[in-house]
Amino acid sequence: MKTKFGDVISRLSIAIVLLFMFRNCEQKQPAPALPVIAVEHGPNAAEQRQKPYVVLVSLDGFRYDYAQKYGAPNLLAIASRGASAPDGMIPAYPSVTFPNHYTIVTGLYPEHHGIVANSFYDPERKQSYKYSDPKTATDGSWYGGTPLWVLAENQGMRSACFFWPGSEAEIAGQRPSYYLKYDEKVPDEDRIDQVIAWLRLPAATRPHFITLYYPDTDHAGHEFGPESPEEAAAVHHVDELMGHLETKLNKLHLPIDLIIVADHGMETLQGGWINLDRWADLSDFVTDGALMYAKSDAAAEKAYEQLRGASDKFNVYRQRDVPANLHYSNNPRIGDPVVVLNGPYWIRAKASTDPNDKVPDIKGMHGYDPFRFKTMRAIFYAEGPDIRRGATVEPFENVNLYPFISRILGLSIGPVDGDRKVLQGILQ
Ligand code: AMP
Ligand code: ZN
Ligand code: ZN
Repeated sequence: MKTKFGDVISRLSIAIVLLFMFRNCEQKQPAPALPVIAVEHGPNAAEQRQKPYVVLVSLDGFRYDYAQKYGAPNLLAIASRGASAPDGMIPAYPSVTFPNHYTIVTGLYPEHHGIVANSFYDPERKQSYKYSDPKTATDGSWYGGTPLWVLAENQGMRSACFFWPGSEAEIAGQRPSYYLKYDEKVPDEDRIDQVIAWLRLPAATRPHFITLYYPDTDHAGHEFGPESPEEAAAVHHVDELMGHLETKLNKLHLPIDLIIVADHGMETLQGGWINLDRWADLSDFVTDGALMYAKSDAAAEKAYEQLRGASDKFNVYRQRDVPANLHYSNNPRIGDPVVVLNGPYWIRAKASTDPNDKVPDIKGMHGYDPFRFKTMRAIFYAEGPDIRRGATVEPFENVNLYPFISRILGLSIGPVDGDRKVLQGILQ
């Protein structure tokens, strides 16, 4: 028979259990219903479970000076609690989206990983790659190197990509454990909540390397220009998102290093189209944007001679003679000759044959020589248990992120273009 005291105790314990369940529900909001593609890779290997977590965020086109220029309190707070590059991170040439995102995750210059532009031709395959065409963007045979998620998975560490150029392709026979098809309509906050949901998985299946991507600052920069109030608003918006991300990450009480970067900066466009076929006979060339693929060495040499000194708006090189700091040689996908702009201009190999052709109505552009144009530089912020508080770094090339991140995750890497020593000083 139950005593009255026993009854009170058992009611009390039910109430306590309910209270805990309720609190747990409140903390553990369900993962957003998003079309996450899960690839069965089994659990994290035992030796990987004690490793830290890295959340790598890309804010596309977030120029190195935007946080100071427009005010980005959350990013600046991350800089003071962690590390930053006040004068920016130097993108690889060309300073555009796909080559640079893929350089960041492979530690290789575009000439070595093969994504030499957002769109290009491969004279050996006799096929074109286009970043906006899912058929080529998701075809792993275009991508060289070992992206961080492949490196992790190969070493028994689970990974997840909430968008990243290359993440939808099977590369070197491997995929991230979790990824999504690129879709700009996915609400901003849902992306963060999905990252949090991944980090709330049981330790066995919880990814240690996670990417996250927002295009807002790139879109505003193109449409309205880097000096516009719309760009300022985009900066404030993604900064606020980074504040939310950080708050939610902190509540997990996991050893997470948050690394926030951009792929390139932005510059105000000047003038109309520069059409290279105004000077050079390119009728026998395959072209893609400003890239030119000659049928023979003699044809490449002739076009080079025709373009040499033709305009002070660009320099032309035989591919083998492109300035060494651009690392833009040694790959047939680059074409020959190679034109490098001297200012923020529009350029293409062949004029359009469309009578209604006009210069697109956009105000900002990137893609230019990142050593000549400071405006091409991108942000770098990092914060977490492995990052030294208040550390700053001189401008560094983004190929150096790969050895830095793989060191945090304790993953062994092969030879790459980046060097571990460059970011060693900001490690705890
Ligand atoms: P751009 O500024 O021309 O170098 O390209 C930037 C654009 O690439 C962004 O505005 C996005 O629309 C697009 N983009 C970024 N990531 C992806 C992706 N993973 N898949 C397809 N398109 C992407
Ligand atoms: Zn971009
Ligand atoms: Zn862009």
